[in-house]
Amino acid sequence: MLPEEQGDAAVQRSERPEFTEITPTAPVAVASHGWRAKCLQRLVRLDLPVPRTVAIPAATVRAIAGGHLPDTGAILAGFGAGPLVSVRPSSENPDWGGPGTMLNIGMNDERHAALAAEHGATVADALYLRFIRAYATHVARLDPDMFDGADGSAEALRAALRAYAQETEEPFPQDPARQLAEVLRSMARAWEGTSARLLRQAKGAPAEAGLGLVVQDMVLGLGRGESGSGVIQFVDPVSGQAQITGRYMRQAQGGDPIAQSEGEIYLTRDPRGPSLEEICPDAFADLLRYGEACRRRLREEMQIEFTLANGRLCVLDAVKVARSSRASVRIAVTLAEDEVISRSDALLRVEPRALSELLHRQVDPRRPRDIFARGIAASPGAAKGRIVFSSDAAQASAARGEPCILVRRETAPEDIRGMHAAAGVLTERGGMTSHAAVIGRGLGLPCVVGASELRFDPRERLLRARDGRVFREGDVITVDGTRGEALVGAVDMLEPALDDTFRTLLSWADAERDIGIRANADSPSDARIARDFLAEGIGLCRTEHMFFQGDRLTVMREMIFADTAEDRAAALARLLPMQRADFTHLFEIMHGLPVCIRLFDPPLHEFLPHSRDGLRELAEALDKPLSDVTRRVEALSEFNPMLGMRGVRLGITLPEIYEMQARAIFEAAIEAARHGRVVVPEIMIPLVSAVREVELVKARIEAVAAAVRTRMGADFSYRLGVMVETPRAALRAGDIAHHAAFLSFGTNDLTQMTYGLSRDDAGRFMSAYVQSGVFPEDPFHTLDVDGVGELLLIGASRGRRARADLTLAVCGEHGANPESIAFCRAAGFNYVSCSPFRVPVARLAAAQLAIVSRMTPENSAELP
Ligand code: PEP
Ligand code: MG
Repeated sequence: MLPEEQGDAAVQRSERPEFTEITPTAPVAVASHGWRAKCLQRLVRLDLPVPRTVAIPAATVRAIAGGHLPDTGAILAGFGAGPLVSVRPSSENPDWGGPGTMLNIGMNDERHAALAAEHGATVADALYLRFIRAYATHVARLDPDMFDGADGSAEALRAALRAYAQETEEPFPQDPARQLAEVLRSMARAWEGTSARLLRQAKGAPAEAGLGLVVQDMVLGLGRGESGSGVIQFVDPVSGQAQITGRYMRQAQGGDPIAQSEGEIYLTRDPRGPSLEEICPDAFADLLRYGEACRRRLREEMQIEFTLANGRLCVLDAVKVARSSRASVRIAVTLAEDEVISRSDALLRVEPRALSELLHRQVDPRRPRDIFARGIAASPGAAKGRIVFSSDAAQASAARGEPCILVRRETAPEDIRGMHAAAGVLTERGGMTSHAAVIGRGLGLPCVVGASELRFDPRERLLRARDGRVFREGDVITVDGTRGEALVGAVDMLEPALDDTFRTLLSWADAERDIGIRANADSPSDARIARDFLAEGIGLCRTEHMFFQGDRLTVMREMIFADTAEDRAAALARLLPMQRADFTHLFEIMHGLPVCIRLFDPPLHEFLPHSRDGLRELAEALDKPLSDVTRRVEALSEFNPMLGMRGVRLGITLPEIYEMQARAIFEAAIEAARHGRVVVPEIMIPLVSAVREVELVKARIEAVAAAVRTRMGADFSYRLGVMVETPRAALRAGDIAHHAAFLSFGTNDLTQMTYGLSRDDAGRFMSAYVQSGVFPEDPFHTLDVDGVGELLLIGASRGRRARADLTLAVCGEHGANPESIAFCRAAGFNYVSCSPFRVPVARLAAAQLAIVSRMTPENSAELP
């Protein structure tokens, strides 16, 4: 708390007057009068030339909305004879919005005549007309069209007064106190309106959030000496770099020219034309001083709204500079480096999710967007390229060096190569944990899924948008995975911003956080990204992804089609060196850090072709009759493969697969150790539901370990753990923990099984469910703490009771969500694991949680 604010708590308790003039010592507080009133008081305390301002607390405004008549005569009494004032909203948080500012309250025939005498009739007409128009539309609620096209002439002014009188059946109100009362009433009611309430609640405002108002003396940017109005800020709002930006307009008010305005001039010296810096160097120097004072004392980069009246500078208002995600990082770090704020404050000022925007190219927010489809923003970043409808076409496009967007109804494991080749992915179906979404996030590939308004016609090879527009293969589109939109054409991009300030902020985050962050990484390139983003190891390596690469798929299929144990062993013997090489590579990259490898998980049919052509090709490759191949593929298909023969069930029924994988892991660990790489592999058994499954697999893995030790004459250690992905595994975690060094909760499957809701089909109705409030959020995106969360707590406590040193983790897609991290941290989990590109988000979110949990109301830093 700043020293000058120590009286605030007392203010909240005392009986509050209907309004308070803002002076350095006046009892004004954010909670009662809103952020703007408080900010203006701080400007007054900094001795900035703020015109006389009166703050009306939210309690009074609420009473006004309910019909109370404020004593506006008393409010205006201090503003002199013929007052002219503005009213601005002042809610507790600037992000909650509020009604627009009203200027020139007090304008009437008498004031019009006085202004005409001082500044000329044209100026007076323009100002009066402007006020009538604003009052008529916002206060009297007349149709704005009535005043459209009215220029600033005397005739237009008379016509406006006539129109007002006709519509409202009374002359335009002349009494400033009456005008002010009506303005206050209309603003108070606008705040209570349903749409305003919903909008602010969507931004986090509580249902009972109130609105304060500030009434300020108007300073007209008119006169013979230098006059005008403008805004100035000292950082660039897109990059956050120190730079003076803003605008200044001569003979203008609130950024709008008044009649005879001389237009906009530059703020700083510029060879292209005159600037405020040259014309009014003293005022310009004062603005720089004020900016620095705001920065140091308000501890924030502020945008200052100012007016010059005959060379006299007034500061009307100051607001936090609106900023892009990348600017928010640079501003926070720079303020901390300049010792204006603490490092923890800097960490708290950046929204963790905003970081993922910095890791990828983004659509330039300043460019127009022609959106032809909306879906789920499944993987952030933006990419542009030509449409391709198949993975083969994506690979061909990549071979030609042409960026492409892979458009599919949904993706399947066999599309992995196509996804690797594409710049972005767009699917008609799918939810937050559908195949395309999970792989897209893992690869850092911009991805929009569940664009259900699109009609994809694979036969015609075209895509039909809801508005009837048709897109064909080769057409250029842009996928915005940050906003979940598909745009027509190639849109300009902003490049990623992994600069020093980004790295500095994350290094500060690591010093604060108290929960581990690992990455889900399946390939060496994922692992490199994970290392680069300072993940503390791999929390999930989905080994099946390795079998889709290159010629492995054929060997894999041979293994699946093997008629005898010998044939299967032969195929696995060919896969073994490939897996060993994969793991050796991973261990090298991750040396010194844990690598958690999940044994084979998916149903086997995912590796098999489904089209006629694919079946024929497979028959040729395996040298078997097509009918044989088709029969075997049919035999392997399941009614519900997600709940069928997958995970540990495969490990039990076809144990050779897990044995091969265990051997590859152990041999790779020995190999890595020979090259001086320290590694303790972790082996994880997926989709467990019974302790006996763990016992059986564990016994086989131990046997493999013993055999490898003997054969290689080398020792190694490893840790064996279990993925908790079924509700039963969570309930039986106590038994399971006796056989496992760690439990890693796979919250994707656990959510799927707890809800009985297919993660691949949820996208079809999820938005309708969330919009109508059936689910508060998509549970595949935000951990369902009430249901799935309870299973996590049960599993964690039963597991830890059985084994105090049990490591607990989450490796589902929820791992990077700040809310999920908060939950896991509170439940005593050791780490969360998420896609490599989300590691920075998780690091910052975890740091914020640690900082906030340390704060008590006394030592909490007040955010501006
Ligand atoms: C999970 O189910 O949460 C998980 C991490 O495994 P997968 O997404 O591969 O099923
Ligand atoms: Mg799973």
